[in-house]
Amino acid sequence: MKNMKKALCLLLCLIAALSCFALAAAAEDEPAACEHEYKVTTVAPTCAEQGYQLHVCSKCGDYFKDNYTNPLGHIYGEWTNVRTATCTVEGLQERECVRCHGKETRTISVIPHVDEDENGKCDVCGAKVEVKKIFSPFEWLKSFIQFLREWFNSIFA
Ligand SMILES: [Zn+2]
Ligand SMILES: [Zn+2]
Ligand SMILES: [Zn+2]
Repeated sequence: MKNMKKALCLLLCLIAALSCFALAAAAEDEPAACEHEYKVTTVAPTCAEQGYQLHVCSKCGDYFKDNYTNPLGHIYGEWTNVRTATCTVEGLQERECVRCHGKETRTISVIPHVDEDENGKCDVCGAKVEVKKIFSPFEWLKSFIQFLREWFNSIFA
């Protein structure tokens, strides 16, 4: 009697599981009833994006794209200065596409320090500048004699 109950229970479980499986399978196998009626819209390419034809079914909303066309590419104007490069700050330039007004920027590297008065400091920003001394034997001799003279003076003063 106990075994009968057990077997019956197992059978019921099996039936339940099978019917679940059957229902799920039926749902998946449901045939696509729509006889699609696609409406075609042509989407023009832009500077950066491809163009294409969009087909949308007016009945069920199903859609696909095809007949892709290449992006047009930007038509840039001249570079204009946004910020002029100095010896401390990078410069910035930009140009604009005449079609989509998309902007492109580029940086201009810093320019060298200027030391016109050769005081070892940049005339613009005051940074230390390596003074390029051209070695001249005559100048060297002059400063050496000057040194000697001062040295003698300090001894015989
Ligand atoms: Zn459809
Ligand atoms: Zn553009
Ligand atoms: Zn400078």
